[in-house]
Amino acid sequence: MVKTTNTLYQYGTLALLVPGLFDGTLQLSDLLKHGDTGIGTGDGLDGELIVKDGVAYKVDGNGDIKKLDGDFTVPFADVHFANYQPLVSVKETITPDNLESTILSRKNWSNVFFSIRAHGTFNQVTTRSINKQDKPYPPLVDCARNQHEFHADKVTGTILGYYSPQLFNGAAVGGLHLHFIADDLSIGGHLLNFAMHDGEIDVQKFDQLEQKFPTQSDEFMQHDFSKDDIAGAIGEAE
Ligand SMILES: [Zn+2]
Repeated sequence: MVKTTNTLYQYGTLALLVPGLFDGTLQLSDLLKHGDTGIGTGDGLDGELIVKDGVAYKVDGNGDIKKLDGDFTVPFADVHFANYQPLVSVKETITPDNLESTILSRKNWSNVFFSIRAHGTFNQVTTRSINKQDKPYPPLVDCARNQHEFHADKVTGTILGYYSPQLFNGAAVGGLHLHFIADDLSIGGHLLNFAMHDGEIDVQKFDQLEQKFPTQSDEFMQHDFSKDDIAGAIGEAE
């Protein structure tokens, strides 16, 4: 199989999570045919996923991190085959406030999808994860209000995630959507806050989005999204 590195493969949409369509409808073993790097969530909103060097990890609602087997299923994920280029060696502290401008001041990429991988040492990191939900699934914003936050000082790890053009907010998170995993697996999850003071930021641009829909899911096919406040929920939950 040819591994294309210019394509972002997205399974499901962020929008389908908003009304609570959390059923895992794709096996990890199939997802990983489309990339060795990425982020996502599990069946029932079961944790925050990070795929790094072809290995998928889950950060569960208690903050515990474990490797996932191929039969684990996902309702939503983004993956691609890594082919990063170095952007910058971190000399001034990088935070959520200046990461996007640090990249977009060097790369004219605001209208395309790209991935970010930043490995180094962090003065502080705050992440969150969510416990697996029970059916009937609540809306995404209710789950986000019950998320668990984790914090670490002085940690070495990797930020992994994606930038999506604003016009794709709903399909994805417009702007940055980042996850984190520590080298020693001591902390990880959906990244809320960080201060990176040393390390490297790498980026990878895509000129193609492959959007896969869960057409085998009757629940998805029959859902009326016109009543869901997609942008509002994504703004609050992500
Ligand atoms: Zn996330």
